[in-house]
Amino acid sequence: MPMVTRKPKESVPVPQAIQTRLEAGGLRRTLATRAVVGLFVASPQRSLNHAQALSLLTARGLDINRVTLYRLLERLAACGVLARFSDDTARTWRFRLADLHEAEVGGGAPSFECDACHQQFRLPNAEASTQAAAARFYQVLAELGHHGVRMDVAIHGTCAGCTPAQLEEARR
Ligand SMILES: [Zn+2]
Repeated sequence: MPMVTRKPKESVPVPQAIQTRLEAGGLRRTLATRAVVGLFVASPQRSLNHAQALSLLTARGLDINRVTLYRLLERLAACGVLARFSDDTARTWRFRLADLHEAEVGGGAPSFECDACHQQFRLPNAEASTQAAAARFYQVLAELGHHGVRMDVAIHGTCAGCTPAQLEEARR
């Protein structure tokens, strides 16, 4: 039998792309950070709001207060590990694992969000032009002594399924 090494409940390995982002964002790998990241890595498609994340973490035995968790979620979103989006019905932020296939530097495919139905669409065909634009911004930042890491491009509008006529109808 192999020797059993005592390890805390950290069953989900953290992918390298996430490690890189955590380091770039200056986040220390605390127990809380690993637990929160693990929560999202375990179900990459799942989105959680702050209260749901808190109750799942508490159920797993992590003692974390809500303010600490809130700051941690914000920092994880800021460094590109989590994606943050608004949940209009509950008036709260939801978080899910960010798309790890996005380029580390240069920004990924721009996204498009329909303001009517809040569906999100990714635009992989526009990725090259986003990266070209990002490269120019990084150049400008570098000249000012700043270090750009990530650029998000989000376009808002009306999707193909929500025509202006329907929107007009919905407003009445
Ligand atoms: Zn729509």
